Amino acid sequence: KLASREFKKEDSLVSVGPVKIGPLRLAVIAGPCAIESRDQIMESARIVRDSGGVMLRGGAFKPRTSPYAFQGLGEEGARYLKEAGEKYGLPVVTEIVATEHADMLADIVDVLQIGARNMQNFELLKRVGSMNKPIILKRGMAATIEEWLMAAEYLMAHGAENVILCERGIRTFETYTRNTLDLSAIPVIKKLSHLPVIVDPSHATGIREKVIPMGLAAVAAGADGLVVEVHPDPEKALSDGPQSLLPEQFEKMMRDIEAMAPVV
Ligand code: PEP
Ligand code: MN
Repeated sequence: KLASREFKKEDSLVSVGPVKIGPLRLAVIAGPCAIESRDQIMESARIVRDSGGVMLRGGAFKPRTSPYAFQGLGEEGARYLKEAGEKYGLPVVTEIVATEHADMLADIVDVLQIGARNMQNFELLKRVGSMNKPIILKRGMAATIEEWLMAAEYLMAHGAENVILCERGIRTFETYTRNTLDLSAIPVIKKLSHLPVIVDPSHATGIREKVIPMGLAAVAAGADGLVVEVHPDPEKALSDGPQSLLPEQFEKMMRDIEAMAPVV
């Protein structure tokens, strides 16, 4: 299998412009859950760049549990994201939720994210796999590691070469945190696959104060990077405010991480 260690012995290094994700470096991708306005994503990009993040995230099409919740700015949001990334020299990543958006998003963003809710949307995986774009594949909230790797296999079988796996917590009986971060997935994946693995401690915990300790734990466990939600004013965030780091917390997290591993 294309994603397996047997197929390729050395760790893969995924390049996104000048940014490299893979062995011997640690990439921190950060930004708000959702792009809410031009000003909000501009300010977020400045915060991410100033603290040493290497890529800007932001959702344009949001897969929300409630149909009454903010659904994202769509294409307009993706364009603001790109503008912010260009201004601050950061490649950008956004989630793709529908095959109809593929051509439009491919022209705008550097990396496409497949969200947890779509990890086994096989038609979406086939389409995104064929797009010749780097992809962040999040683990489904009820997916086994084997199922997650098979989803990566779908992408690669359809042509994708640059796939990054993202552990974002799984559903367990525990309710204190939003999900349960499966840190053991990191060494398990490292054994089974050559693909880079990053960790999203924001969606894993759902609680701002828990993001930094779990992010640091992921680095200690061998993650190749982190995806973290940070918002200029989390109190006013239109989605995932409670888990979004304050700018000063993000700055602190970056300093703590730099003390553990080189941040590229
Ligand atoms: C996100 O990263 O914006 C997101 C919705 O995450 P997940 O798919 O992991 O829930
Ligand atoms: Mn979010």
